[in-house]
Amino acid sequence: MQLRIPGPTPCHPRVLEAMARQMIDHRGKEFADMLGRLTPKLKQIFQTKGDVFIITSSGTGGMEAAIVNTLSPGDKVLATTCGFFGDRFAEIAETYGAQVTRLTFDMGKPVDPEAVRRAFQAAPDTKAILVTHNESSTGVTNDVKTIASIAKEFGAMVLVDSVSGLSSIDLPIDEWNLDVVATASQKGWMTPPGLAMISVSQTAWQAHAKAKMPRNYFDFTKARNFFEKGQTPWTPAVPVFFALEVACDLILAEGLRNVFARHARCAQTAREGVKAMGLTLLTDPKCASNTVTAVNAPPNLDVARMQKILREEFQVYLAGGQGKLTGKIFRIGHLGWVTENDMKEVLAALAKVIPRAMIQA
Ligand SMILES: *Cc1c(COP(=O)(O)O)cnc(C)c1O
Repeated sequence: MQLRIPGPTPCHPRVLEAMARQMIDHRGKEFADMLGRLTPKLKQIFQTKGDVFIITSSGTGGMEAAIVNTLSPGDKVLATTCGFFGDRFAEIAETYGAQVTRLTFDMGKPVDPEAVRRAFQAAPDTKAILVTHNESSTGVTNDVKTIASIAKEFGAMVLVDSVSGLSSIDLPIDEWNLDVVATASQKGWMTPPGLAMISVSQTAWQAHAKAKMPRNYFDFTKARNFFEKGQTPWTPAVPVFFALEVACDLILAEGLRNVFARHARCAQTAREGVKAMGLTLLTDPKCASNTVTAVNAPPNLDVARMQKILREEFQVYLAGGQGKLTGKIFRIGHLGWVTENDMKEVLAALAKVIPRAMIQA
């Protein structure tokens, strides 16, 4: 089977085996020991010396945590968006009463740092910028480094959705001055769904002390107080914690640089392969993601039919387009537990199925 959607992603057998263990007391020593081992491993992969918390929720919970813990209603927020997940981040900030300015880019295009600069010049009292590191709906990786450096010139916090980027694409959190970064277990972490992982900088802690948005389940103060006792505030998804520790061991044993390089090679194989079939990419090669490739569907390709044949006859699972891109693109996920050989299998199946999924004139 080839589950090649941008999450959930396939899990290594050792990761799955870890989930079959008996439950433990989440207020006991065994859990505290595990959290004590797991957190430094996460910090290595996050490339941060700051705090990292594990929250039992999907990635969206991590995005919500980033906002409600650092901002107050009425705060000016610049929400950059180049797709579905950028819109989601903006929507969360709006829900909690931030004064959101959306800076929107066409589907398939990245966030333009110069436009970010102009937006800050127009509203220099902006408290935070929201950035999607890797926009999974369009297969775009944004230039977070440059965007963050501009935000810092204006003294704004940088809140990052790296749900489908972190652990697969280089994101040196401390070096780039990123204040809160959220990711999720079921993407590049090759772990089942259920956990969001989130980093918090010193600047974010200072903002947190004054931030007035309502929060409870996702409160960083609660997370920190319980972390000091080797616990999480609420009952954690214990089996997914077991799985995540094994997955982190696999990532660190392979080496972070090697993991990034493998993703780059898989992405390259996917991009070259679809181009060789005469297909085109939604994105410019300069911003094409190393975890998701978005392919333009030729006008006479029935994407749903293609997906159905791939699924039923080849056990290959690809994602369609979201929102306005439904029927217009399809997406190949290459994140987590993936090799170039997996991509070759997917491409071979695609080459057979595409001619069969064309709408006859
Ligand atoms: C998957 C994804 C999310 C949302 O994650 P959930 O775990 O479904 O809540 C957010 N942002 C990006 C970029 C994603 O790929």
